[in-house]
Amino acid sequence: MTLINPYNFVPLKAQEPKRTKGYPGRLRFHELCFTGVLECTLTALSPIVTLDQRDYSLWKLRDRDGSLLRNRKGREYKEIKVFRFLRDSLGNPILQGTSLKGMIRSIYETITDSCLALAATLGDSIKSRDSIIYYEYADLGSFRRSECLEIQRLCPACRLFGTIGGDDLHCQGRVVFNDAILVKPGLVESRCYLKELSNPKPHHFATYAGGKHKAQGAPIRGRKFYYHQGPGAKFHVEEHESNDRSIAIDEYADVGSEFCFRVYVENLDKEELGKLLLAIELYEGLGHKVGAGKALGLGSCSVSVDKTKSRISTPNAWYGDWSVKDAPHWYTLKANEGEIPDSLVELLRLNKPEDGSIEYPPGKHYPSVPIDALGVFGGNAVAGKRPEGPVQRASTPLQVQPPATSAEEEAAWLKEIHEDTLIFVALDGRELRRPKRGYQGSAKLLRVGEWFVLSGTICVKPVTY
Ligand SMILES: [Zn+2]
Repeated sequence: MTLINPYNFVPLKAQEPKRTKGYPGRLRFHELCFTGVLECTLTALSPIVTLDQRDYSLWKLRDRDGSLLRNRKGREYKEIKVFRFLRDSLGNPILQGTSLKGMIRSIYETITDSCLALAATLGDSIKSRDSIIYYEYADLGSFRRSECLEIQRLCPACRLFGTIGGDDLHCQGRVVFNDAILVKPGLVESRCYLKELSNPKPHHFATYAGGKHKAQGAPIRGRKFYYHQGPGAKFHVEEHESNDRSIAIDEYADVGSEFCFRVYVENLDKEELGKLLLAIELYEGLGHKVGAGKALGLGSCSVSVDKTKSRISTPNAWYGDWSVKDAPHWYTLKANEGEIPDSLVELLRLNKPEDGSIEYPPGKHYPSVPIDALGVFGGNAVAGKRPEGPVQRASTPLQVQPPATSAEEEAAWLKEIHEDTLIFVALDGRELRRPKRGYQGSAKLLRVGEWFVLSGTICVKPVTY
């Protein structure tokens, strides 16, 4: 079976980040900017784990017969830490707002080609328990965070999410994330011994370096993201298979768990709000990662914005119209103002496990062959884009009038059929992705260039003329 590395990179663009817009400040609401609150729901698509670092217990590992577990040399293992799920002061299981902000910022940075806020291009890397190795990559140039120096010349992500630069630059973010609280069901209470998680290995140039010359001084490969491993990812081992380089957990949020949180936004222009909505919701069929154990397949999730409960407005329209609309004007900005690059789509795809086995290679040493753009060791894909194109594609938009639909339905034009996805264009121009298995009708009726009715989240029905 094809072996796929648990993570890969989105290459940096050739052009430098756009630092052309000034910072709007927080002293007053600007006439054409959006302010308000987004009500969001995060749904777990693989188990989610957060570690309460304040409250852990220690445990001596045991073998199957109940005796203390020993390594191959007969030495007893040290005690390992056993964590509970993080909770707020009221006892609610939570995902911290800072984690959510980091999760969304990394996507926003990628779709806006912003600076790399967290990249370290040189330093010490832990090669093994008692061996440290120095690594150094080429300078990031205009993608360095230190290039975001002046408040009126910030990259799009620093401008929206905020940045601090010594004594001279204090730019407060205009987007605030609350903690996400678990609303249903409860946590699963079960002792799990997590598979061993090693430190990042930036000295491994075959994986981390871009270009052909993979050695000290090479450019970095890009922005790092972890692949989704599906709802059944095997993230734990039996106690007798564990060791003292790992940890254990007593609780996790299972697949299907729902967390609710709010995102407060202030003075966002159209482009910023549209791209933020895209970074939060993504396209259908893509997912985020949050919490611990991303390399083990933990933390996959989707986020949706409740359009009717959210309150977003420009200052002049704040009290202008109390009517509740199905698709508020501000929400349509999501489709108009942004696009997710192919290489990121490939990395966030929820059906990635269909391509192969996503795990670190067996054995002690990482292979020295590089991974390709699809994460395959020794593979030869050069673009981070699923190789196969659409099975069918309509050449020109349909001129036939869209059908009348009821309140909870939406008419959409079928533009492309892929192996597992249908791509529609809604009346307002938004591109919508629906799983092909959601189609309700005979396969013969599924034709590109025709109108269909969308009902609920996945159901697609042919229009009956
Ligand atoms: Zn920046």
